[in-house]
Amino acid sequence: MERNEKLERLAPLLREVLAVLGEDPEREGLRRTPERWADALLTYTQGMQQDAGDPLGVIFKLDDDDSPAESDDMILVDHIQFVSTCEHHIAPFRGMVHIAYIPNPEQRVVTGLSKLSRVVSVFARRLQLQERMTQQIASAIDEHLHPQGVIVVVQGVHYCMIQRGVEQRESTTTTTARRGAFLTKPQLEAKFQEYLRLRMATQL
Ligand code: ZN
Repeated sequence: MERNEKLERLAPLLREVLAVLGEDPEREGLRRTPERWADALLTYTQGMQQDAGDPLGVIFKLDDDDSPAESDDMILVDHIQFVSTCEHHIAPFRGMVHIAYIPNPEQRVVTGLSKLSRVVSVFARRLQLQERMTQQIASAIDEHLHPQGVIVVVQGVHYCMIQRGVEQRESTTTTTARRGAFLTKPQLEAKFQEYLRLRMATQL
């Protein structure tokens, strides 16, 4: 379905929601709200029409000199911001994603660093669960780059908790997904955490 057709179908439904809430959808401040709300909903979920393979299709090959074949050296990109939508309450949750992967020793394939943040946004702009988003990001990197291993850590703040009065303003949710060597070599995760701590202590 085209975006315009979706907007046309959504707007009257959302106008009805406003009416059921006891609002007057015709009052000045709300008159265009159903259209704006519909447009916003389509933006929040536009990742549903996107494939993580697109950004990850752009890969680079390392020269033999760039990384020794038997290396466990990881590439870490931290503090990738995201905003997503909780599928249980249609409320936003936002936070940070930290990703590390160890390139495949035979293929020596790496991705552009900005591509990782695009992968995050492809999965964030959907009706989501933080746990699932974490796994999807790890799987996409695993499937497209075939790394030795990948770890994804997501820290999220959920407005469905804050706004509904559960009053957990300070609490964050942390989820982790591991693939490959990160499942079998716990020292890699220790190294990853050490780099993250180092990053937090460094002003760049
Ligand atoms: Zn929720």
